[in-house]
Amino acid sequence: MRSHLLNDTTAERYRRSVTEGIERVAAKLATTDRPFTGVTVDALAPRIEQIDLDKPLHDTTAVLDELEDVYLRDAVYFHHPRYLAHLNCPVVIPAVLGEAVLSAVNSSLDTWDQSAGGTLIERKLIDWTNDRIGFGPSADGVFTSGGSQSNLQALLLAREEAKPGRAGWEASASHAKLRIFASEVSHFSVKKSAKLLGLGQDSVVSIPVGNDKRMQTVALARELERCKRDGLVPMAVVATAGTTDFGSIDPLPEIAELCEQFGAWMHVDAAYGCGLLASLKNRHRIDGIERADSVTVDYHKSFFQPVSSSAVLVRDAATLRHATYHAEYLNPHRMVQERIPNQVDKSLQTTRRFDALKLWMTLRVMGADGIGQLFDEVCELAGEGWRLLAADPRYDVVVEPSLSTLVFRYIPAAVTDPAEIDRANLYARKALFASGDAVVAGTKVGGRHFLKFTLLNPETTADDISAVLDLIAGHAEQYLGESLDRAS
Ligand SMILES: *Cc1c(COP(=O)(O)O)cnc(C)c1O
Repeated sequence: MRSHLLNDTTAERYRRSVTEGIERVAAKLATTDRPFTGVTVDALAPRIEQIDLDKPLHDTTAVLDELEDVYLRDAVYFHHPRYLAHLNCPVVIPAVLGEAVLSAVNSSLDTWDQSAGGTLIERKLIDWTNDRIGFGPSADGVFTSGGSQSNLQALLLAREEAKPGRAGWEASASHAKLRIFASEVSHFSVKKSAKLLGLGQDSVVSIPVGNDKRMQTVALARELERCKRDGLVPMAVVATAGTTDFGSIDPLPEIAELCEQFGAWMHVDAAYGCGLLASLKNRHRIDGIERADSVTVDYHKSFFQPVSSSAVLVRDAATLRHATYHAEYLNPHRMVQERIPNQVDKSLQTTRRFDALKLWMTLRVMGADGIGQLFDEVCELAGEGWRLLAADPRYDVVVEPSLSTLVFRYIPAAVTDPAEIDRANLYARKALFASGDAVVAGTKVGGRHFLKFTLLNPETTADDISAVLDLIAGHAEQYLGESLDRAS
């Protein structure tokens, strides 16, 4: 069994084994003609169920054959130009190379004595990101498992900073008094974080958005005012720079003004919009982000990085102390005096992947402009998609894209019952998924079912968008035709 351990005597086995796996994936990439096979849970579950995990095959080739059957054949493929659904991106090759290196070396970024150079590489990428944001020299941050964790950590810091001592507020700030303000289309991890942080059920105040799906700052000002009047504490405002559903970007400069005025922590959730930090054309859309106290970025959404790759950035490094604990066995306090850089001092995690290496490889091979160019391309494609949808009488489209998302619904002229239109759109999404020809997402707007394209693949063309719109219309019409038959 020792022959399976990665070490000096098994280097050749490692090379052959990993190469064999990579060959399988490469063959899949070359031959995949649809983003999905349309496999059902019922068809797939028994294939996995019947495998006896206590009877190993002892042979890599046999296991890869089996993997083909239980996973590779029917996986959802994000590199396919007709995968248009969620905020999960096709990935760039330098990042995948980084992934292969980091898991083989298996650095753990919690302590210097488990990573060495890895720690410094991560720190340099944090500094790079902070420069792009426009933070000053006291900024810091840390890689996280994803946007949800970044939001949680940012709000933890905000909660601690809102406690006694925060300018203008009484020392009576019990958790029940703390309020977080976020738009009605902010990410659900804001509410989840509030719960994890022990804040009250009413702690997240939902601020309405306008037709453009951006937070209404007049309403925000009114709620902040009310909060103060009621003797409550405005702990944080979460501005979303790229909402998950619409890609809309809250008005960051106005929100920054209000945060300053009311002494609230400004968190910018740029999990999606962070790609603009590398953009050559559209960086200005997130101007004002430099005034935040903390920022969430998901490189695994708009930097074309494999899951996971994410970070939380803070304007003032000192605020990260709220996440610091010392353990004798790991990061004893004396190491701070000895200036040994232990990233665990800044993180909610202990053992932690060297995800930063993927971004490092990407920047070193492609450069930031390369990433920005790819993101600009998908944003431009969304603009083309918007024009197509707006000109198409079969469709209603919600909002002109700020990033790369389109939300729309099929509206046949002959059908007036909104519930029937809902059902036709739901049916079209399911039928499309079952066919595997394309994958699209869905969401609700004003209580009605809509469909959604999240465009993250620069290989997708306007022709793909047109073709998928025809497919959707075809499925919806089929549903409505059958529904008429049922009625008669
Ligand atoms: C995706 C997303 C998150 C959550 O990020 P994960 O990496 O999925 O945990 C948070 N906020 C916004 C706006 C997002 O789009």
